[in-house]
Amino acid sequence: MSLSQVRGCLSCQLGIRPEVLLPHLGGVIVEAAELAGCLCLRARARADQAACPRCGQVSGRVHSSYGRRLADAPVGGRRVVIRLAVRRFFGVNPDCRKKTFAEQIAGLTARRARRTGSPPSRPTTSPTCTPSPGPAPRPRRCPQRPDPAMEL
Ligand SMILES: [Zn+2]
Repeated sequence: MSLSQVRGCLSCQLGIRPEVLLPHLGGVIVEAAELAGCLCLRARARADQAACPRCGQVSGRVHSSYGRRLADAPVGGRRVVIRLAVRRFFGVNPDCRKKTFAEQIAGLTARRARRTGSPPSRPTTSPTCTPSPGPAPRPRRCPQRPDPAMEL
């Protein structure tokens, strides 16, 4: 297939999912992607269960859920923001002091972190580089639209 024959979304036609290009997103399902100044991805965990961070017991009993906003490494010079739907689970181990806990996505989230755990895509600055004059332009914020799915 040549590019001149492609109509619509090339990624959809070729079966390329965002997590193929961004392997640290393998633990989530990306439900939507929007280019609006930055690349905004709306995602949720792929797993049905999560392990308690204290005792390691796996639970599938959802207590509640909430939206979490994470900054990810830039892609193609664009800021990346992940709006992640996070579930809080009931602990199932009666001997564990943790009665509820929020799920964490391996390689992506850490407790209370506002950035993903993915490595930065920028090359490290060598000591011979001269600093650019003046501050970098301030990045534009992603539009804040009410999203009923994120306010569960
Ligand atoms: Zn526990």
